[in-house]
Amino acid sequence: MKAMEEKILTSGKVLPGNVLKVGNFLNQQLDVNFLTEVGKEMARLFADAGVTKVITIEASGIALATLTAQALGVPAVIVKKHFSANQSKEVYTATIDSFTHKNSYTAVVAREYLNEGDRVLIVDDFLAVGNAIRGLQKILGEAGATLVGCAIAIEKAFQGGGDALRAEGIRVESLAMVESMSDDSVTFRR
Ligand code: 5GP
Repeated sequence: MKAMEEKILTSGKVLPGNVLKVGNFLNQQLDVNFLTEVGKEMARLFADAGVTKVITIEASGIALATLTAQALGVPAVIVKKHFSANQSKEVYTATIDSFTHKNSYTAVVAREYLNEGDRVLIVDDFLAVGNAIRGLQKILGEAGATLVGCAIAIEKAFQGGGDALRAEGIRVESLAMVESMSDDSVTFRR
């Protein structure tokens, strides 16, 4: 998606530690009209995959998962990063190492929202080394749901997570693939 590359070039900032900051359209501030088009594009890519649910991890994947789910006409399931008091006791969990926060957390989702037979599309803002997707993959496996693929806004291809998943036969569609980045330049794989 050319528009995603252009948005990164005009609005993205490269921070130390291989972090691309896109806070003004994808994370802290949302460019809702742009993200609506992103959601439609993600839905178009998986239109024939028989998706029954879209899943993401809070917080930064929620907007994209919601808009993609809306375009597909299916529910969006949000995996939480913490147990909460009103959380059902019947849950699936996965321990995930966070790329941006350099810690690990327990991803948790109530069992009632994932069923055997569900065909699930993972949506996320970034794909780096792939830990978040691996965690969701584990949860889907425990639920007996089928992973139909991953729709990612920005894949940092140089970190290898996407290619490792593709090598295992998982369909990964990224709207922009960053090949390299430095303080003053970002290049894309096309
Ligand atoms: P992974 O688990 O693939 O290593 O990292 C993916 C997760 O880390 C995404 O859900 C995203 O929230 C966060 N992340 C990874 N790299 C970046 C980045 O360069 N910028 C931002 N804003 N988030 C990132």
